Amino acid sequence: MGQIWQNRRADFPIFQNRPSFAYLDTAATAQLPSAVLDAMIDFEVQTRSNVHRGVYQEAEMATSAYENARQNVAGFIGANNDEVVFTSGATAGMNMLAQMVSEFLSAGDGILVSSMEHHSALLPWRRVAEEKGVMVTTVPHTAEYRFDLETYRLMLNDRVRVVVVTAASNVLGTVNPIAEIVRLAHACGALVVVDAAQYVPHLSLNVHEWGADAVVFSGHKMYGPMGIGVLYLAAGLAASLTPAFVGGGMVREVTRAGLAYEDAPWKFEAGTPNVMGAIGLGAAARYLSMLGMEAVAERETVLTRELIVGLLSLGDIQIVGPDSMDSRVGVVSFNVPQMHPHDMASLLSEQGVAVRAGHHCAMPLVSMISESGVVRASLGIYNDEEDIARLIDGIRDARAKFGYV
Ligand code: PMP
Repeated sequence: MGQIWQNRRADFPIFQNRPSFAYLDTAATAQLPSAVLDAMIDFEVQTRSNVHRGVYQEAEMATSAYENARQNVAGFIGANNDEVVFTSGATAGMNMLAQMVSEFLSAGDGILVSSMEHHSALLPWRRVAEEKGVMVTTVPHTAEYRFDLETYRLMLNDRVRVVVVTAASNVLGTVNPIAEIVRLAHACGALVVVDAAQYVPHLSLNVHEWGADAVVFSGHKMYGPMGIGVLYLAAGLAASLTPAFVGGGMVREVTRAGLAYEDAPWKFEAGTPNVMGAIGLGAAARYLSMLGMEAVAERETVLTRELIVGLLSLGDIQIVGPDSMDSRVGVVSFNVPQMHPHDMASLLSEQGVAVRAGHHCAMPLVSMISESGVVRASLGIYNDEEDIARLIDGIRDARAKFGYV
C-alpha cells in the first residue's frame, strides 16, 4: 500500500513549480491530475464535436467518449448508466431535483434536513417548501458531532415526504449512516436525497447499497474539472419525474401538439452538455479507481489522525468534529482561541499553507459553534506528513505573531 503514495504528488502539475505548497483545501476544490487534463485536451484537440447529433466520425467519437465517461462514473459509484445524469455540479443537481420533486409536495407535508447541510442542499428545499407550504425541520447532531439517529427516528412520520442528508459534512468531517437513514425513511414512504459532494473523494461508494433515491456530487472535489457534476436518480424515481429543463437533445419526438421525452438519463440533459467536463470527470473516476478507494481511505485515515494529533498537541485548540477516526473523513475544522479564523488563514497563507476559514456555506451549523466561523484543513491524495507539519508549525508561528505562545 505504502508505495502507491510515494509518487502521487507528481501526478499533479500544480506542485511541479511549487513542491512545498501545502494545499489543505481539497474540500473546497481538489487539484487536477495530468490524467484528467490530458483526457480533456485530447477531446478538445482531436474530436471536439457535439454529442448525440452528428453522423460524421468525430461526432460519433465525441458521443462515445461522453457515454463512456458516464459509464466510468456509474461504475465508480455502483450505479447503472441510465441512473447517472450529468449536471454542472452538486448545487445544480440539488436545485433541479427540488424543483422536479416539488410537483409531488403539498401543504402540510414535511421535509427533514440534517443540521449539517451545506447551503446548496438546504436552500433549494427551503425554497420549494416556502412555495408549497411545506415545513422544513432540522434533525440535530449529537454532542459528539454525529447525526442523531434516535431523534431522527422520532421525527419521522407519514407526512415526511423528503429527507435531505449529507453523506459527509464539509465542516465536521462526520460520515453519516446513510443506509440506515434510508431504511428508516423508506419505511415511512419518504424519499431520501443525499449530498455526496464530500464523500466521493474519500470513500468507496455504492449507491445501490445506500438505497437512496437521489444523490448529488461535483466533479471538482474528486479531482475532476469544475462545471460538471452528477445527479444520480434511482430508476424508479427518474421515471416519475418531469424534467426541469426542456430543449434539444432530450426529446424523442415533437409534434405541433406535444412531445415525447427521451428515456433517462437523456431526458434530464437538455441542450449541449459539458462534454469536456464529463470526459474529465470520467478520467477522474478512472484515476481514483486505479488507486483504489479502499487504499485512498486507508491513507487518509493515517493522515487525518496525524493532523488531529498535531492540532491537539498545540494545547488549547478546539477540534470541531468527531475526534475518533471512525466514520470520519479528512476534513478537520478547528478554532484557535483568541484568534479570528480569517487572521489564522491569512497568516498560514504567508507560509505557503492553504486552508479555508469562515462559515463554509453551512451557516446554520457553524454559527451554532462559533460566531466568527472556523478554520478548516482538508486532505487530498497529494498531501503528506510534511504538509501537516507545515500547518502545525504555521499555527504555532501565527499565534506567536499575535502574542500567544
Ligand atoms: N455540498 C457540500 C457538502 C459541499 O461541500 C459543497 C461545496 N463546498 C457543495 C455541496 C456544493 O458543491 P458545488 O459548489 O460544486 O455545487
